[in-house]
Amino acid sequence: MVTSQLIPLPALSDNYIWLLQQGSNAVIIDPGEHTVVQRHLEQHGLTLQAILLTHHHGDHVGGALALHEASGAPVYGPATERLPVCHHRLSEGDTVQLPDFGLTLNVLDVPGHTAGHIAYYGRPHNGAPMLFCGDTLFAAGCGRLFEGTPAQMLASLGKFAALPDDTLVCCAHEYTLSNLRWALAVEPDNASLQERWKNDSALREKGLPTLPSTLALERATNPFLRTAQPAVAQSAARHAGQPLASEVDVFASLREWKNNF
Ligand SMILES: [Zn+2]
Repeated sequence: MVTSQLIPLPALSDNYIWLLQQGSNAVIIDPGEHTVVQRHLEQHGLTLQAILLTHHHGDHVGGALALHEASGAPVYGPATERLPVCHHRLSEGDTVQLPDFGLTLNVLDVPGHTAGHIAYYGRPHNGAPMLFCGDTLFAAGCGRLFEGTPAQMLASLGKFAALPDDTLVCCAHEYTLSNLRWALAVEPDNASLQERWKNDSALREKGLPTLPSTLALERATNPFLRTAQPAVAQSAARHAGQPLASEVDVFASLREWKNNF
């Protein structure tokens, strides 16, 4: 079986709608609008097999109903969130079978950005594992806590941190450079971070996506996955102006810092 193609379709102001393609079949993740997806499907003669949603925000679900109506493809989404259309309600432990792709996606509950946010993780027969993390994890960043606590978000990110190094991290926004600017303020001496800044700046200068990232790279450069690192904890405490007793406190201080950066 030929390896699936993973394509980020730029949409809205800075979203990526991820499209997984195998032969003439496609799966779409978090279609915030339908026109960009419809155009791509028509141009490449693709049949939509499934529509996956991670959380209820409009820039992730806005195109789901129109795409379902045009294709008949079933919609999968979080068990507990209000969605414009959903045929399969999912929570952790559930799976999405994509036989045409040689792929089973496992569902993870990752509350924090929204209360019912889910993510999809799977390893194709021949190829690197993939993580569709919605707005929970970004390149060198993480989602804002609209409906959850720092402890919840830290636990959610911990589930991602346990996945293999070569996992392709498919984030839903191109926020990388602004996140890296902040990450460099947190860890100015991190050589991996300096290297990443150079590489990703060069990609953006050419108008190319900085994604997918890998979990190895996020573990090496994303402050929100590095709350146990002494340099990150010290920086967070300095920013908070007080000692921080736990990783949750470090995480909360980092999130607050990034909100106002
Ligand atoms: Zn969101």
